[in-house]
Amino acid sequence: MSFAETEINKFKKSNSTGNNVFYQAMEEVIYSIAPLLESDGRYSQHAILERLVVPDRIIQFKVTWLDDNNQVRVNTGYRVQFNNALGPYKGGLRFHPTVNEDVLKFLGFEQILKNSLTGLPIGGAKGGSDFDPKGKSDSEIMKFCKSFMIELHKYIGPRMDVPAGDIGVGTREIGYLFGEYKKITSTYEGVLTGKPFFFGGSLMRPEATGYGAVYFTETMLEMENKEPLKGQICTVSGAGNVALHAIEKLYDIGAVPVSCSDSSGTIYDSRGVDLELLKEIKLEKRLSLEKYLETHSEAKYIPVDEYPEGGHAVWDIPCYAAFPCATQNELTAVDAKNLIENGCISVTEGANMPSTPEAIELLQSHKLCFAPAKAANAGGVVVSEFEMSQNASMSKWSFEKVDNKLKDTMQMICKRVALTAKDYGVEGNYVDGANIAGFKKVADAMIAEGI
Ligand code: GLU
Repeated sequence: MSFAETEINKFKKSNSTGNNVFYQAMEEVIYSIAPLLESDGRYSQHAILERLVVPDRIIQFKVTWLDDNNQVRVNTGYRVQFNNALGPYKGGLRFHPTVNEDVLKFLGFEQILKNSLTGLPIGGAKGGSDFDPKGKSDSEIMKFCKSFMIELHKYIGPRMDVPAGDIGVGTREIGYLFGEYKKITSTYEGVLTGKPFFFGGSLMRPEATGYGAVYFTETMLEMENKEPLKGQICTVSGAGNVALHAIEKLYDIGAVPVSCSDSSGTIYDSRGVDLELLKEIKLEKRLSLEKYLETHSEAKYIPVDEYPEGGHAVWDIPCYAAFPCATQNELTAVDAKNLIENGCISVTEGANMPSTPEAIELLQSHKLCFAPAKAANAGGVVVSEFEMSQNASMSKWSFEKVDNKLKDTMQMICKRVALTAKDYGVEGNYVDGANIAGFKKVADAMIAEGI
C-alpha cells in the first residue's frame, strides 16, 4: 500500500463514509502532497494532516424567518471555521438548498489552501444555509439575512472571521447582513467583504473571481507555450457572478465566449453571447436563461433534460478553452471526453471543484492545461483581502490599482503553482502544484505556532 493510500485509509476510518464531497477534496490533496510528506518527516511528526482535516469548529444554528404570507419558516445556518494558522478565518457564505455540513467542510477545506496560495494573511472558513433564494421576494431575502446574522454575529469579527459571498449571496445579501451586524453591535467595521462600494466595499469585488480566472489562464497558457486566448472560442458554464465576469474579461481580451448555463439549461450563441442581455436576465431580473431566445432566436437553448447521458451540453460545444463556473462536479468524465475530442486545450475552474476526479485524470492524461479552482478562482478572495485592507486603513483604492494588484497576484499564484509542480517532479500538473504549495505554507505555520 502506498504512503498516500495509508493516509487516506486513516482518514476514511476517522472522518467519513468515503462517499462525500469533503472526502473527494481530501483524497485529491493527500495524493498530491504524499511526496512532500514522505520527503519531510516534520509534517508527520507534528501530525499536520490529522490536524488539518478537522475544522477548528463547526457552528450550526437555527434561522427562523417570516415569509410574505406571514408563515414561519425554519432553515439551518452554519459557519465552518476551519483553520486560522495564516490569518483570520476567511471565506464565503452560500445560500442554496444543497448546503449541508459536508459541502461546507469541503468548501472550507479548499478555502484554507486557496487562501494560502494568495500569499495574503487569511485563514480558511465557509458558511451558509440550506435556504433557497430562488423565487423569494426582496423582503423575504432581507428577513432571512437579518435573522441569519442575529446568530452569526456572535462568531465573527474583522480580526476573527470575515465572511463574504458565494452562490446565492451577492452584494444585496451582504448589504442586508452588514446592516444587521451594525445594528446589533453598533460598530462600523470590515466584518464582511463584498459590501456595496458606497459603504465600504472595494471596487472590482464583483468582477474579481471571473477576471482572476481569465488572468490565471493567460499566464498558464503562456507558461505552457500555448496560443493566447485572443481570438479563440471559449465556453463558459454558469450564469452567476463568476461566469458573467469571466465572459466580460474574455471579451475584453478579444476572445469569443459562446455559452453559459443555469439550472434549467444551456445557451449556445456561436457569434458570442450577448453579455448585456445576460446581465439583465440573470443579475437584475433573476429569470431563466430561456428568456435569451426572445431577443436572440438564432441562438440555441438546450434544456437540462436534453443533456447527453452523464454529461452536460455546454461541454459538447467545440472550444479552445473551457471555463466551468457553475458548481461542484459539473464537468464529468463524459464531458472531459467530449472536450478532448473537440480539440479543447485548456480547462480553468472558475467554480469550486467543478470537475470530477475522473474528468481531471482524463484531461491531464491528454495533456490539456488544467487550472484547479483553488488557484484559478482565488481572485474573489484576493480582492476580499484588499477590501479588508482598505477598511482597516479607512481608504479607497482606484479601479486600476485593484485590477493591477489582482492581475499581479493571479500571475504570481500561477507561476508559484507551476514552479512547485516542477520542483516536485510533476511539471505541468497544476493540481499537485497548487496542493503542495498551498499545504506547505499552512503546515509550516502550524508547526511554528505549536500545538
Ligand atoms: N466565495 C469565494 C470563494 O470561494 C470568495 C470568498 C471570500 O471572498 O472570502 O473563494
